[in-house]
Amino acid sequence: MKSLWKVDNGNKYPLLVFKPGLKPNKTQTMKQSIFSILTLLLFSQLNMIDKPSAVSGTLYSDEGSVSIQMENGKISGIDRLEGSDSEEKLFIAPGLIDIQINGYMGVDFSGPDLTVEGVKKATRALWKAGVTSYFPTIITSDVDRLKKNFAILAQAKKDPEIGKSIPGFHLEGPYISPVAGFRGAHLEKYIKAPDWKEFSEIQAAAEGGIRLITVAPELEGAIPFIKKCVASGMIVSLGHHNGTAAEITAAVDAGARMATHLGNGCANMINRHHNPIWPQLADDRITPSIIADGFHLTKEEVRSFYKAKGPDNTILVSDALDLAGLPPGMYERGERMLELTPNVVKLPKENVLAGAASPINLCVGVVMDYTQCSLGDAIQMASTNPAEMMSLDDLGNISVGSRADLIVFSMNNNKMIIKETYVAGELVYSQP
Ligand SMILES: [Zn+2]
Repeated sequence: MKSLWKVDNGNKYPLLVFKPGLKPNKTQTMKQSIFSILTLLLFSQLNMIDKPSAVSGTLYSDEGSVSIQMENGKISGIDRLEGSDSEEKLFIAPGLIDIQINGYMGVDFSGPDLTVEGVKKATRALWKAGVTSYFPTIITSDVDRLKKNFAILAQAKKDPEIGKSIPGFHLEGPYISPVAGFRGAHLEKYIKAPDWKEFSEIQAAAEGGIRLITVAPELEGAIPFIKKCVASGMIVSLGHHNGTAAEITAAVDAGARMATHLGNGCANMINRHHNPIWPQLADDRITPSIIADGFHLTKEEVRSFYKAKGPDNTILVSDALDLAGLPPGMYERGERMLELTPNVVKLPKENVLAGAASPINLCVGVVMDYTQCSLGDAIQMASTNPAEMMSLDDLGNISVGSRADLIVFSMNNNKMIIKETYVAGELVYSQP
């Protein structure tokens, strides 16, 4: 008997077995061949044929050369290599995870025209930016719109092509501060006090997919609302608020664990002693998300936040608007005009930032530039930490058994250039 063997991680598996024996007659062989081909076709249609593959490069965390094997959507082996002779250094890291993103490539998750097809378009574009998982974020809107759009996101989450990249959704608002400056770009007329019954209806429309919610702790009823959110398994993040130290502490005692885009969603003029930033920086139980796009925070803010929280307790988010990826100019969005500059989106009338236009891979480079942190630390903040915060246990790391969500990229002057993106072992983007 003659066999072909596949050697994987020290184990040998038979691939094909040939049995010599009596000479088969031609018709029999032909029948068998046709049967084999049909079986193969059927199994490959059903995606049941194991397609082992491997990717080699420099490991992001320690710069060692590795070959990573993928099988059945998971990482099945990690081999250390002797070094590589390729001219361009190609890094391998876990795929980026963006827990705050409002839209991409013209697709607005809060917009009136959202469709599953649109979510697919945004997802495919995000794969090109190295994002393998993200939490589509819907901001303060009319409640009917919230329900309608979360229902569409719930359909997208079940889609066989893109569903794996959408582990849940983020609701930012409407239970936030109505005060100018703190409310940022959120429309005042839709802002309100927390209402558990109303939220439960929105969550039902989302088929339970809302896993992260941004609320203001100083609103009437916020603390019991936060407790209910936490009891239902959600992560509560404080944002767009002007909470006092006592209100922030009460919210954290109630189970809030994050601060949404710390340093933004805040008025320009604040008291130097008593403002919402210090208490959130001081409380070690709070992990802030930050928009390190080079525009939403100064270098000194990013450095100070990073020094206070460290790479273990900081999460990078893009907060990108749907305009991200489109050419600069004036755009009508919903009920107002937005200005897209090459790097950021503004509300020209109020002269405030409306959101970012840089995908999270650019923020990785900016945070490295601003803080001088290592690539490993930056990836931790853009992948490992959000995965841990959202209990995505098999994402955000490279270890045997984890889902094979991997990115291959080069670094050029702290700019991440994505070459390949894998989601559950499948190559979903390859740089042309
Ligand atoms: Zn915001």
